[in-house]
Amino acid sequence: MENTPPHLSRRDAIRALGIVIGATSLGACAGKTQTPALGGIGDPIPGVDTPPSSTANNNSGSAAQEALADWRNRNHSAETLGGILPKGVVARDSWTNAKPIIALADPMQRVTRITIHHEGSTPFSSTSSRDVRQRLDQIRKFHLSRGWADIGYHYVIDPAGRVHQARPIALQGAHVKYNNEQNLGIMVLGNFEEQSPTAKALASLQQFVGSQMSQYKVPLRSVYTHQEIRPTLCPGRNLQGRLVAMRRAGGVLARA
Ligand SMILES: [Zn+2]
Repeated sequence: MENTPPHLSRRDAIRALGIVIGATSLGACAGKTQTPALGGIGDPIPGVDTPPSSTANNNSGSAAQEALADWRNRNHSAETLGGILPKGVVARDSWTNAKPIIALADPMQRVTRITIHHEGSTPFSSTSSRDVRQRLDQIRKFHLSRGWADIGYHYVIDPAGRVHQARPIALQGAHVKYNNEQNLGIMVLGNFEEQSPTAKALASLQQFVGSQMSQYKVPLRSVYTHQEIRPTLCPGRNLQGRLVAMRRAGGVLARA
C-alpha cells in the first residue's frame, strides 16, 4: 500500500472541493496490533489506500483536477492555513518551522465530525515542553516518511494538558483510513493500552473537544473515537472508557 502513488489520494481533495463524489483517504493509526514498529513513533499506519467502492468513478473530472491544482498553487502561508488559532492552543511554530507539503495535501471542507486518538506508540508521560516538542516533530517526520503532507492530526494534547496545533485546519487530516473528509483529528500523546491518561490531559481533552464542537457545530453523535470508525485499539482501553463516559448523558461533552 505504501507504494501507491501519492496522487491517488488527491481524490479526497476533489471531493472536498465538492465537485466529484469520490474518496481515498489516509489513516494515521489503524490495525488490531499496536506494535511500535516503523521507528516506534505514531500509531501503526496503513499507508495510502483506496476504498474499493470509489475506484470506478475517479478518472473523470478534469475540472476538479484543475480546481485542486489551483488550490495547491495558491500562496498558502502558515497564517492562512491555520486560520484563527483556538484560544489557549500552542501554535505549531513552537515545535516546528517546517511547513506542510501542499502538493501532497488536500483542502479541508467544513468540519462535521471529530475523531479522538491516542499516539499508540511507546508510553509517554513527560510534561516537559522540550520533550513534547521533540515528540511532536518525531511524529511529523514519521508521517512524512509515509508520503504524507504533514503530521496526520490537527491537534495534539500532551500529558500536561497543553493543546498543540499540529496539521493546519485548512488541510484535511490523515488520521482515519477512508474517513478523513470533514473529520477533525485530535490525538492525546501516550499509549492508553499501556498507561492511563493524566487528569490534566483528560480535562483538557474535554474542554477542547467541547470548544471544537461549539465552533463547528458538531453534534455529540458525531464525536468518535478511532475504534468506533475503524478496527483498531486506538485510543486505547484506558482512554476509550473515559470518552464513553464523557459523552454519556450528563457527561461534560453532552453539555457542550
Ligand atoms: Zn487513532
